[in-house]
Amino acid sequence: MRIIVTAPATPRELFDLWAEVHLQGLPPPALVRQVHVQAQLRRFREAAPDLFQMEEVGRSVEGRPLHVVRVGGGPRHILLWSQMHGDEPTATTALLDLFEYVRRHREHPRVARLLSALTLHAVPMLNPDGAERFQRRNAQGIDINRDALALQTPEGRTLKALRDRLQPSLGFNLHNQSWRTAVGGTGRPASISLLAPPFDASRSDNPGRVLAKKVCAVIRDALEPLAPGRIGRYDDSFEVRAFGDNLVRWGTATVLIETGPWSSPEPDEPLLRLNFVALVSALEALASGAVEHADVERYESIPLNDSKGLLHLIIRGALVYGEVGDAFLADVGVAAVQAVRSREGIPSIVLAGSIEELGDLRVHGAVEVVEGTGLTAVPLPSQGVKEGDTLPLPPRSGRELRVGLPAELMLLRPVEPAGHYRVERVIRYER
Ligand SMILES: [Zn+2]
Repeated sequence: MRIIVTAPATPRELFDLWAEVHLQGLPPPALVRQVHVQAQLRRFREAAPDLFQMEEVGRSVEGRPLHVVRVGGGPRHILLWSQMHGDEPTATTALLDLFEYVRRHREHPRVARLLSALTLHAVPMLNPDGAERFQRRNAQGIDINRDALALQTPEGRTLKALRDRLQPSLGFNLHNQSWRTAVGGTGRPASISLLAPPFDASRSDNPGRVLAKKVCAVIRDALEPLAPGRIGRYDDSFEVRAFGDNLVRWGTATVLIETGPWSSPEPDEPLLRLNFVALVSALEALASGAVEHADVERYESIPLNDSKGLLHLIIRGALVYGEVGDAFLADVGVAAVQAVRSREGIPSIVLAGSIEELGDLRVHGAVEVVEGTGLTAVPLPSQGVKEGDTLPLPPRSGRELRVGLPAELMLLRPVEPAGHYRVERVIRYER
């Protein structure tokens, strides 16, 4: 007798289920390379050859094979691709987790329905050469997402040929967005942003775009309880060269999912969970037909992204010394990006940051906000300190903060004896 696992019924249960299906043994998303993806795809194929079909559909500039994975046998064809931009990795791992979910729970009625209603065609990591370098562009230096018309990249040509051959009714275009992106008007990080791209400059609707909007509405309603106030709507101005926009024109409506910042020191896991919930919820709604009843207004009313406003860290109202003049009260704003650094040949992902703003930052939001009232913010001394240490205020030449310095700071609170301070917080980003 086969044991049928109870399928999740709610986004929260899917969010929790992710821990069970997430593939162990993969590096963090930013360090996943095509060799990992291929090894994993081979494992799926060996474990369930009747469930997973693999086909090489092209080669990258540097000759890395591009595979499409086919899952399910339903009449509705769905195309999904990730990491068209090499440094936007989250959804590649999320797609692998989705496959593992389908493999493990294929007997469950909800998954069985998905597999009988839909055929998924997925290209995890469309830009393996860019992923190898953790860079946006492909090995030619071209942004593949501006190559939908010129088709001068083999990766872009592969995607176009796949679309033309499969004529899918819907595509999922999976990206990461800048860590500077806030949910417009709120100052909160846009952890996931959604878009049903337009196909002309006047942003007209057609049945495909309406379907994409409904899918976005389903995803919003699934994610919002898990990330309240952190779902944004991506800029919907028409980009004549982009794949999303052109796929709609060619007859395949697309849903753009952009993964953004998350406010915890370990953002990968919650962001993977959100991706997983988004994909499973959308596909289940497509399979069951529930998507037809989704309310387009639930998409239209998602607040627009504010793509530049978000800082990574703000210290509010600390005492600061500038290069001249008296100490003053200021907010200190740190901007940060994820980067891959290699130490002794071993890569790791770091947050590289610098002081980008100083002064009244009340209009800015941040991934993390630190209350600085009563504290003095000064650069970290070269000899190193730890939280809880007591020390005198550094000499004048060691106190000054200014825009452009590395984000390596300590927050000091005055203690006895006079002139001494306790280190309340050490803030250290990579350079
Ligand atoms: Zn992108």
